Amino acid sequence: MLRIKQKDYAEIRRHGEETYPHECCGVLLGQMDSDVRTVTSTARCANTRTDSPQNRYNIDPKELVRIQREGRERGEDIIGFYHSHPDHPAQWSQTDLAEAHWFGCSYVITSVEKGKAVLTNSFELSGFDENDKKLVGEKIEVA
Ligand SMILES: [Zn+2]
Repeated sequence: MLRIKQKDYAEIRRHGEETYPHECCGVLLGQMDSDVRTVTSTARCANTRTDSPQNRYNIDPKELVRIQREGRERGEDIIGFYHSHPDHPAQWSQTDLAEAHWFGCSYVITSVEKGKAVLTNSFELSGFDENDKKLVGEKIEVA
């Protein structure tokens, strides 16, 4: 389950509206406690995919390292990632699964239709290794 404050939830949805018709992407930081991930802050990232930004996203590894380091200084870990699906459902794609590598983290997808955020779903990356991994739908609790 993913626990997120209304403010952070609104922020990641707004990010998807702002980058429309391109995908937005970012990082969720907070605490991981067995099956519950609690978001305490979010970090926007630039989508480095210039070849196909309307249906692909990529976070610069250097940016990710910086976000991770700054989070640790505040006592926060990376607990998930978010991105948007412009004019596509809030369901993970084969590409999303192939490019997900952070086991036990949440992958949040917001569908943005005609510039307006519609549905937001979250999926946990579960499994033991790359051959066995899957994205499993999980509950989002907005507090
Ligand atoms: Zn996607």
